[in-house]
Amino acid sequence: MHAEEPEWTTSAREDLDVHVTAVHSTETLGEVTARFVAVEVTSRVVGYLRTLRSGEVLDAVELDLPETTLATTAALLTLTPEVLEGAGLVSERWPGALHAAEHAAIGLLPLVASCDRWDIGGLSTALHDDTGLPSIFVYDSYPGGAGFAERGYASLATWLVATRDAVAACECPSGCPSCVQSPKCGNGNDPLDKAGAIVVLDLVIGAVARDGGGGPGAALADDV
Ligand SMILES: [Zn+2]
Ligand SMILES: [Zn+2]
Repeated sequence: MHAEEPEWTTSAREDLDVHVTAVHSTETLGEVTARFVAVEVTSRVVGYLRTLRSGEVLDAVELDLPETTLATTAALLTLTPEVLEGAGLVSERWPGALHAAEHAAIGLLPLVASCDRWDIGGLSTALHDDTGLPSIFVYDSYPGGAGFAERGYASLATWLVATRDAVAACECPSGCPSCVQSPKCGNGNDPLDKAGAIVVLDLVIGAVARDGGGGPGAALADDV
């Protein structure tokens, strides 16, 4: 008897909430704002998906597990609805665009911080209760924070230019594990809008570049 590779993979489905408890630093870049914040992350694994190799979801299994709470630190990006619409992104695309940008940013954070993508969590939403805006959170998955999100915030331009370039250079048509899909997504990598992520990242990069020196923007002057 030998172990056969299963014909499916499993991925946890998670309910996730991020609440901002303190703002440590803010960079207002026109229609885009970057912040380094303290957050409380509440999560609950609600089940898992079994997915066939083809990508087709086989079934969803429900679990009843307790909620966990993590007090940590996060890099927070917000964009105004006006700037997203102005860039041609209709509101229906915001969740997928923000989510894909979040995943890609998590994947590239190890470029500027000594971390692994498994050290980092994220949440994106078209409307966040605390910010009142389309928002992307990238947080340290350790109590009290581990300095990774802070490094990302401090190296915002370097981090997000690399993220944007990685997504744009990936030859897949609509997102793959090398660009915008995440192995630890609690939402089964849905929705994801690869082209939308490039629009979102370009908006943030453009805002940082226009801001010029100082704060997170200083990194761009060094690197371009
Ligand atoms: Zn790809
Ligand atoms: Zn996700």
